[in-house]
Amino acid sequence: MIQAEILARLRVAPGSKVSLKDYDPGWAQTKEMKALGKTAVKERAQAILDQNLADLAAAQELLYADDRYAVLLVFQAMDAAGKDGTIKHVMSGINPQGCQVFSFKQPSAEELDHNFLWRYAKAAPERGRIGIFNRSYYEDVLVVRVHPELLARQKLAVGVGKKRFWKDRYEDINAFERHLTRNGTVVLKFFLHVSKEEQRKRFLDRLDRPEKNWKFSSADLAERGHWDEYMRAYEDALSATSTDWAPWYVVPGDQKWITRVVVADVLTTAIRGLELRFPELSAEQRAALKQARDQLTSEQR
Ligand code: AMP
Ligand code: MG
Repeated sequence: MIQAEILARLRVAPGSKVSLKDYDPGWAQTKEMKALGKTAVKERAQAILDQNLADLAAAQELLYADDRYAVLLVFQAMDAAGKDGTIKHVMSGINPQGCQVFSFKQPSAEELDHNFLWRYAKAAPERGRIGIFNRSYYEDVLVVRVHPELLARQKLAVGVGKKRFWKDRYEDINAFERHLTRNGTVVLKFFLHVSKEEQRKRFLDRLDRPEKNWKFSSADLAERGHWDEYMRAYEDALSATSTDWAPWYVVPGDQKWITRVVVADVLTTAIRGLELRFPELSAEQRAALKQARDQLTSEQR
């Protein structure tokens, strides 16, 4: 388990003004880890990850059996920050039946004909499940903010051009998340914070290795050109939407194993914090089970 104080440091305090410079994408090693040396750290990391997934599997089973709560994980990041890998890792520890993943792309014509939260509300996880949003309604205050022509496509009649426009969207998002949490969905949000230099390396890796070429898109390079605007949009959004009921975590993105440990840990801790129980049987149900058992045993000769 990651120490609670480390997780607390990565959690964005509600009402605080986020400056991403204060969060180190390369931060990974505790003093204890550094003292161990590199190979040992890798082994140690693997041990932590394995333990993490075992804990997560147990927590998920209880979540599923209890069937009153859901968990929504929201992932946002720049390209190549490790969203896909982290989702794959976290998923590898859990029962696929209790999990649903949605990856949001540019909205369709039908989606653009509705309010901006519509497509996300439809994809919110059922009770007992862990839902994962690979990108989310936050794109509507990030990519859409960086590229105003996308806003024009949303066919809005109200509010556009007003000073309060983005503030209003943050308010809508906070209210939506409040609604979800009041109805039993735990909302956890992760910004995978990769450095611009590490993104450069990962892009080059995608170009260098034929089996990774498919992951590279020249559109990603264009977005990289807007890096500073994105960082400002993220800072603004994180500051406005980290709430008591739906906190943001700024997760170091430059070392993949750290990203994975942090996410798995936040998730496991959150599920454990719920009052979950295996469903209890009533006296009648227990009597029915006894009868079934009697019937089955009487078949034996
Ligand atoms: P990828 O995740 O690499 O498949 O890319 C999906 C693309 O869809 C990204 O460029 C996102 O910025 C874009 N996208 C996702 N949600 C929205 C949205 N609500 N409005 C506009 N573009 C979006
Ligand atoms: Mg992409």
